[in-house]
Amino acid sequence: MHITELVLDNFKSFGRKTRIPFYEDFTTISGPNGSGKSNIIDAVLFALGLARTSGIRAEKLTDLIYNPGHADEEVEHAGEREASVEVVLDNSDGTLDRSQVVNAAGTEKVGDIEEITIKRRVKETDDNYYSYYYINGRSVNLSDIQDLLAQAGVTPEGYNVVMQGDVTEIINMTPYARRQIIDEIAGVAEFDAKKEDAFEE
Ligand code: ATP
Ligand code: MG
Repeated sequence: MHITELVLDNFKSFGRKTRIPFYEDFTTISGPNGSGKSNIIDAVLFALGLARTSGIRAEKLTDLIYNPGHADEEVEHAGEREASVEVVLDNSDGTLDRSQVVNAAGTEKVGDIEEITIKRRVKETDDNYYSYYYINGRSVNLSDIQDLLAQAGVTPEGYNVVMQGDVTEIINMTPYARRQIIDEIAGVAEFDAKKEDAFEE
């Protein structure tokens, strides 16, 4: 399974609908400082529900909506505004359970779902804000997305995304703490926990 495309609409610095293709094995994004490279990673974390707002460099969810006067603190915006991010996944290798996607999509037909689209929207009205998640166009809860992605080992606690600063943190850790991360990634930590539970019984 891999991301084939990202569609950003009014998200952070992307004031208009922007499609970003991803290659199967390796994609590099380059550009000057402040051009929006990290915002693209933030978009993935936002859409897949993998980070808190602080993890995507925003105080509140609505800060993620494109704001032409972003640098200017004084800017006031009126009326409804919204942003959305769509992550298109190639699931032709069947990593994600198709029946689960079909259930989330609410259809009875169990066909070959090779392309899975996960989308999240944030909408701001005059006095409130709303967040919506979708799998292949059908409205779902965050937990549906988390259950789906967990099948590919993608979890909020995981190390699927290595952020700026994380590498330095790993270098500065004690060997024991670093070993714990490796155990976590290798899936050994789960068994250590089970072993401990068994000894306690
Ligand atoms: P660097 O190379 O320094 O890491 P970068 O390419 O990763 O830069 P980003 O951090 O992705 O850059 O983008 C920062 C830019 O995004 C800033 O100019 C900031 O003003 C803009 N930005 C962030 N949120 C919004 C928003 N809601 N509306 C408009 N622009 C925004
Ligand atoms: Mg950056």
